Amino acid sequence: MDQSYEALLKKLKEQNIRLSHQRLKVLEYLSRHRCHPTVEQIFRELQAEVPTLSKTTIYNTLEVLIKAEIVRVVTIGGNETRYDIATDDHGHFKCESCGEIFDFTIELEAVPIQGLQDFTIVDRDAYFKGVCPRCL
Ligand SMILES: [Zn+2]
Ligand SMILES: [Zn+2]
Repeated sequence: MDQSYEALLKKLKEQNIRLSHQRLKVLEYLSRHRCHPTVEQIFRELQAEVPTLSKTTIYNTLEVLIKAEIVRVVTIGGNETRYDIATDDHGHFKCESCGEIFDFTIELEAVPIQGLQDFTIVDRDAYFKGVCPRCL
């Protein structure tokens, strides 16, 4: 499930995408903090280190990274948009008590489904909700 920062840089290079120093900081943050942060959170946490970074830059960077399939949007519950380094298939579990989102391994390709044989599937997600061990 792990994607190192270096591996992500390689992925960018393969797609001929060049990121400015500020933008690289956003990518670095996402690769080091697998907490599915919101833009607000990324902004707050990077402010000290990159004072020139704006929320617009973060949004624009995320857009580029989403297009490059390096980042994916997690829209589990609520109206908050969170971001995640796109890794191999994994599901998300949201704790309804503390709001934290946890990754878990799931083989989405292996989940038996019925009724979609005439459809083209472009994306699969697994969202679970409940209470995490810390809150129990
Ligand atoms: Zn919890
Ligand atoms: Zn995740």
